[in-house]
Amino acid sequence: KQLLITIDGPAGSGKTTVSRLLAEKLSYIYVDTGALYRGVALAVQKSGISSGSDDELGKLCKTLDLKFVQSKTKTCLILDGNDISHLIRTPEISMLASAISARPVVREYLLKIQRDMGKKKGTVFEGRDMGTIVFPDADFKFFLDACPEIRALRRYNELKDKNTQTLEEIEKDIRLRDKNDSTRKIAPLKPAEQAVIINSTSISAAQVVSQMMSFIEK
Ligand code: C5P
Repeated sequence: KQLLITIDGPAGSGKTTVSRLLAEKLSYIYVDTGALYRGVALAVQKSGISSGSDDELGKLCKTLDLKFVQSKTKTCLILDGNDISHLIRTPEISMLASAISARPVVREYLLKIQRDMGKKKGTVFEGRDMGTIVFPDADFKFFLDACPEIRALRRYNELKDKNTQTLEEIEKDIRLRDKNDSTRKIAPLKPAEQAVIINSTSISAAQVVSQMMSFIEK
């Protein structure tokens, strides 16, 4: 049976690495929903509208054409016909994505896109509210966590020579985003009731995946 699996958790908890590995192991499609929020953030930045105005955000979302296009070797995020994958990983876009993700109009717009993608089973969705809101009926739900220092260090190492921030700045940003994401009124970051919670502070991504597999294969 082809399953729908969700992996939620804070920034730097290892979601992306783990989701990719798990999808690869199962020959599933992997969907990074954070990229969609980043895509909307980029559109907001380009248009110059206020990220606090639901009205303007709503109007903007109506005009957007945001989607993933999968080729054999990679997945690209396409906004209005342009590949924006390489533009969405900056610190500014991270913070703007976190800000606009608290606006109901934005979540509403992305909810449909995500649920449409979920019609195809055999998928691993990673995000913040996959198990709680977007796919409450998912076959398996996981919540990944790790201490903030380790999450910042992972993010720092991941960016390597592309780093524009110090480790301290990254940790500060991560803590701020966590606070925004877990205290917002709509779809706050938290484990779904049935989620299996895995703390990855002192275990490797491969070990996390094998723990997940032991649940899936049961
Ligand atoms: O996962 P990533 O760090 O790329 O996500 C960027 C931001 O998008 C998060 O800080 C969060 O505010 C938002 N997000 C969300 N719901 C999701 C995925 C991401 O609110 N399902």
